[in-house]
Amino acid sequence: MESHSKNTEEVLSLARSSGAGVAGVADLSLIRGLPTFEGVLLNHYRYAISIGVPLPNMAVEGITIEDPGILYAHAYHSANALIDSITLKLSGWIIGNGYSALVIPASLRVDLLNNLGHASHKAFACAAGVGWIGRNGLLVNPVYGPRLRLGTVLTDMPLKPGKPLKNQCGSCRLCVESCPSGALKYSEFELYPSAREEIFDHQKCAARLDKFKHMFAQRTHQAAYAAPICGICIKVCPIGKSRPRT
Ligand code: SF4
Ligand code: SF4
Repeated sequence: MESHSKNTEEVLSLARSSGAGVAGVADLSLIRGLPTFEGVLLNHYRYAISIGVPLPNMAVEGITIEDPGILYAHAYHSANALIDSITLKLSGWIIGNGYSALVIPASLRVDLLNNLGHASHKAFACAAGVGWIGRNGLLVNPVYGPRLRLGTVLTDMPLKPGKPLKNQCGSCRLCVESCPSGALKYSEFELYPSAREEIFDHQKCAARLDKFKHMFAQRTHQAAYAAPICGICIKVCPIGKSRPRT
């Protein structure tokens, strides 16, 4: 068990020194049935390292119903790029130590119809204790709230996992009431909702995200800024609006 603790300390410290604001380890046996794009992606690994890169509060506060703002679009893209760089660094370090590692891309939709990536970064982050799944369907960290972008590395390196965090939204329903598309449904659950549909109509949300994706591409004449973003359910969440200095 000593090597588990030492490996965990070293890999999480590398994540933080590389730019992650939060990082933790999930025991995959807790979420073994999680659907993944490749079907059996999780079967080859024992742990997931979950990292989060905070979004600047100024960029999030600039989001409006009519326009998420170019600063938020930039923050979204640059956080994803940083996450891919950090997770690649972590996987290189793990592989260099003789173990397997696989990076789940930070923000790559591989199932366009259902608006899904390779696997849910939120599910890994929740299992790692990095945050809880909020009523907005996002990962809510106790310090940063949902103002985070997430990344994941799967591995068989012996690690010491954290404990999953139960939902702490309480009676709050701000995100549900503020969603301009009516995509969020109020529901109560402890760890994970029984299905995404229990809390969220992904088609209603996707329609709004696509609208802004085209708007940013046209406005900047740069395909790289074609961000599928909205951000209202991030901005209204009271958690993460002010951050204690550590
Ligand atoms: S991103 Fe926008 S449309 Fe989608 S759930 Fe959040 S507030 Fe609603
Ligand atoms: S706005 Fe309220 S209900 Fe929604 S995720 Fe944040 S704390 Fe939870």
